[in-house]
Amino acid sequence: MEFEMDKRINRLLLEQCAQGTRWLLDKGFTPSGDSGDVSLRDPNTGLIYISGFLKGLPFPYVDFHDFRAQDMAVFEPDGTKISPWCDATIETPMHLAIYRARPDVNCVVHSHPLWASIFAIAGMDIPLSLAEQYINLGAEIRTARYAPAGDMLMGEYIVEALGSNNAAIMANHGAVTCGPTMEFAFRYSHFLENIAQKTIFAKLLGQVNTIRPEDILAEHLMEGTRP
Ligand SMILES: [Zn+2]
Repeated sequence: MEFEMDKRINRLLLEQCAQGTRWLLDKGFTPSGDSGDVSLRDPNTGLIYISGFLKGLPFPYVDFHDFRAQDMAVFEPDGTKISPWCDATIETPMHLAIYRARPDVNCVVHSHPLWASIFAIAGMDIPLSLAEQYINLGAEIRTARYAPAGDMLMGEYIVEALGSNNAAIMANHGAVTCGPTMEFAFRYSHFLENIAQKTIFAKLLGQVNTIRPEDILAEHLMEGTRP
């Protein structure tokens, strides 16, 4: 890289963020291979690493497999960009809003996944119906109020829909999952696709029996589970 890099920037996290961006395609979370973004927060410095624009190419002319460390942008927690080498995804304000609202989160995955996007199109929440949904994602997965891609309101609406959950649906757009590490955030993306697919098929059968969080585990096992 031919630039003076801020000494707080961790090259390993630039690499990890690039790997996460490639994972969007590899793990099937951007089925058409043209959209979505990943961010990481360094708990030591508070800096936020986020997918950038590949070689300045606009979507959909990017190949997600080509993303490398030098294509990742870096921000201060207040939103100041400290990576002069590339521009960041247009959804950066949403990622930053999630970190401001959720001190427990160090990774945000924004994807355009097949099954969860069906709820985004329908404008429907995913009701709580399986134990693993509650344990990994939270109770009902809510669809946020609609905001155009890149709009400053998107962050507010997604934070509202997330609450303390680890997943939310972006109306007419896609999905967001978040977690303490990149591995957890992607695991939650898998869980979200899993529960979205199962719920759609249950709806096709004609019935979705919901459950209450307090009924998932036997009472003597409830201690230490998600609130
Ligand atoms: Zn998007």
